[in-house]
Amino acid sequence: MASLEEQRRIDQQNFRNHLATVNEEGKRNWIYPKKPSGRYYKARNIVALLLLAFFFSGPFITVNGNPLLLINIIERKFVIFGVAFWPQDLHLLLFGMLTFILFVVLFTVVFGRLWCGWACPQTIFMEMVFRRIEYWIEGDAAAQIRLNKQDWNLEKITKKVSKHAIFYAMAFLISNLFLAYIIGKDQLFDIITDPPSEHIAGLSAMIVFSGVFYGVFAFMREQVCHFVCPYGRMQSVMLDNNSINVMYDYVRGETRASVKDRYQLENRKATLEDLGFSANEQFGDCIDCYQCVKVCPMGIDIRNGTQLECVHCTACIDACDSVMDKIDKPRGLIRYSSEDAIREGKQKVLTPRVAGYSGILLILLTTFITLLTLRPDTETTILREPGTLYQELPENRYSNIYNLKMLNKTFKEIPIEIKLEQPAGELVSLGSFTSIAPQNAAEGRFLIQLSDSVLTGQQTELVFGIYSGDKKLETVTSGFLGPANNN
Ligand code: SF4
Ligand code: SF4
Repeated sequence: MASLEEQRRIDQQNFRNHLATVNEEGKRNWIYPKKPSGRYYKARNIVALLLLAFFFSGPFITVNGNPLLLINIIERKFVIFGVAFWPQDLHLLLFGMLTFILFVVLFTVVFGRLWCGWACPQTIFMEMVFRRIEYWIEGDAAAQIRLNKQDWNLEKITKKVSKHAIFYAMAFLISNLFLAYIIGKDQLFDIITDPPSEHIAGLSAMIVFSGVFYGVFAFMREQVCHFVCPYGRMQSVMLDNNSINVMYDYVRGETRASVKDRYQLENRKATLEDLGFSANEQFGDCIDCYQCVKVCPMGIDIRNGTQLECVHCTACIDACDSVMDKIDKPRGLIRYSSEDAIREGKQKVLTPRVAGYSGILLILLTTFITLLTLRPDTETTILREPGTLYQELPENRYSNIYNLKMLNKTFKEIPIEIKLEQPAGELVSLGSFTSIAPQNAAEGRFLIQLSDSVLTGQQTELVFGIYSGDKKLETVTSGFLGPANNN
């Protein structure tokens, strides 16, 4: 039979053997986190309000007439912070994505999961919207447990029905907004106002999205962070001993002992051994009150060290700070810190790993901004009409026929003029266009007539300038086919 002291140690290691959200029969352990309060919770509320305001107004904000954000996968149109991207800009998008992923990795290496706790939509909607609705209707954790245990009566039916009705309404609203980011607010407005039969696909997407969001926030909850989110799963690769995380200061906190144990010792009602401690045990500041565990929406005990489940929501910091205030000890037994800072008492931010990542990030960012700045407003291809040869004209002149395809990547109409810049020759339009509508493609045909004196062989390179007024938008090259014996 294990001694009290051994039992205490076994209990403290037991967290490694099971998931906090799974019970011994392998069923879901529903988490009832106590409502948090404190300075971090207040700050997170303000950040969440700002982010929610941004999210809800995003589809309606325009920059120079363009939507702020549009991720239209169906029509392959992307607008990020007012800058339009087209399928032809795939290299830019991939580059931007690579830069963003590296930024996330670097940020995580230094600041841990700050994103998860403060800015992730899953945490913000779950903790700041759905959980608050739940507290408002069903009460704090203890009241929720009581309600779930009690028989179905009018109170339980009213609370459960109203909670799930509001949850579904919120999920419906969120899914509409997501759809607005995908198809744009105008198309969304059409789906809402037109007869349902005209937008079967759009309405089906709305219903599916609403169901998914409702399922995530009403039932899946922390399971999304544990099992679905790839960022959460990658934490162990990204974090090191200098990463800043929500940490329990075990140097200061251990050995933990409850207020009751301390009282018994102080009043000589029990010895250290009686209470399961070793003879020379020194007590730390943790009074083993479990307040940090009770508020945790992931159901974990942060005193066991950094864990994959922890989303750095800071609820345990607030809970422990209020305990420290009550027992007259300094705040910060649980705080933002790093493994090394707690063990050695000093925080290193600029490690070789951080410096290396920062250098690569700087190179990627500079390249991305340069590519973005140099990107032309139009994308033009000029190709000789397939299957045609040159045509001989009087006075030793030859002509080729060309197809022109042009894409306007901007949100404004662009007047267009095409000039043959090299070699000297004549461009004869065959019903080409003079302007391109916003976000549109246009096609046209023209002839190029060259004198044999400018031909450099069977193939002569042509250089075209694409102009809008006096502004040159692009330089495009193509080939001119002449007679084989021409040198
Ligand atoms: S351990 Fe603390 S910071 Fe981590 S999820 Fe739980 S309450 Fe939030
Ligand atoms: S809230 Fe603070 S004092 Fe209480 S158990 Fe957690 S770490 Fe210990």
